[in-house]
Amino acid sequence: FKSKLPNSAISIFSRMSLLAQQQQAINLSQGFPDFDIDPKLISLVTHYMQKGFNQYAPMQGTIELRKVIADKYKQYYNLHVDQNEEITITAGGTEGLYSTIAALIHPGDEVITFEPAYDSYSPSVQSFGGKVVPIELLASDFAIDWNVVRSKITDRTKLIIINNPNNPTGRILSQQDILALEKIVEETGIYVLSDEVYEHLVFDGKKHISVLESDILRQKSFVVASFGKVLHATGWKLGYVVTNPMLTAEFRKIHQFNVFSVNTPIQFAIADYLSDISYYDSLAPLFQQKRDYLIEGIKSTPLQILPCEGTYFLLVDYSNITHSEELAYAEKLTQEKKVATIPISAFYTSGLNQNLLRICFAKKEETIRKALQNLQQM
Ligand code: PMP
Ligand code: GLN
Repeated sequence: FKSKLPNSAISIFSRMSLLAQQQQAINLSQGFPDFDIDPKLISLVTHYMQKGFNQYAPMQGTIELRKVIADKYKQYYNLHVDQNEEITITAGGTEGLYSTIAALIHPGDEVITFEPAYDSYSPSVQSFGGKVVPIELLASDFAIDWNVVRSKITDRTKLIIINNPNNPTGRILSQQDILALEKIVEETGIYVLSDEVYEHLVFDGKKHISVLESDILRQKSFVVASFGKVLHATGWKLGYVVTNPMLTAEFRKIHQFNVFSVNTPIQFAIADYLSDISYYDSLAPLFQQKRDYLIEGIKSTPLQILPCEGTYFLLVDYSNITHSEELAYAEKLTQEKKVATIPISAFYTSGLNQNLLRICFAKKEETIRKALQNLQQM
């Protein structure tokens, strides 16, 4: 058998969650909330199931849900996004990423990624014969040198993938970054896949900048979003992709034969729930409080904290304790201190070791408190 992904193994998220389970450790590794979703949302799902919304949804998603998404862009970004021709509901952010890559990438096309990079980008590109050209960003600021980006562009470069706010670094792109990207796109016509699944989790009064806010980028960009992060329901696997009408048509050709359509009653429930548009305002304060609680506790450990502007992940540096490899150290912490985290080396092709671990704080205060008690005994 000739594997399309000979170097792919079990994902670091599955691996560390499994180890946490085996070791009965507190699982701050894989990114998912451990608190309940709003009971009102559960009743809405039940309601729509009972009302008989149990057959195929339209291929592009229900109009009710697409309208609520368009309203969000109007309210929060003052942007007109066409609900009929620019939004497609997907099976989570993951399908949005995969179907975008499937629509764009031909064998031999080059795709620029920034590492640490989310784990699905590279295998998705390779599945279609694309070549990933990673650019390593380094701790502690993970800043992008746009001259380096330019130096990696060839006449085969088809796509640049960005993730803003960034998993795992917790950093967000500045207006200058967006302008630098805009200039490159304007000059070269390269496409952009902008993974914005953490768009609502930006802290300290900072603001997320979507690529959709740039007229130039909008002509060439696909934005990926996820309801898993917005509704604390990662298991629902619902998200969407926003792009212009021409690219949406191409995207839907793939989406149609990838999943055809996604969960009907949950689409109706989400549309109903998010008709209260102020819901989004609750997200950043909720997670900022959790971040601050974690940071306060980490201060009484030997771990050093890196800045976290967004997402529900905090990076910590353990070089005051040891210079062991990150995976080995993450495993040791899970076994000995009963706290599971994610090694950042897993997000680099080169396996670069910077003595960094990612801690997920999308957890009940009680969970974070228990983890801190264990970590404070280091
Ligand atoms: N992109 C990033 C950066 C993520 O962290 C995740 C998942 N946590 C996804 C995409 C995938 O989203 P989903 O769970 O909706 O498939
Ligand atoms: N996005 C989640 C994380 O970063 C993991 C999702 C997954 O397990 N594929 O932890």
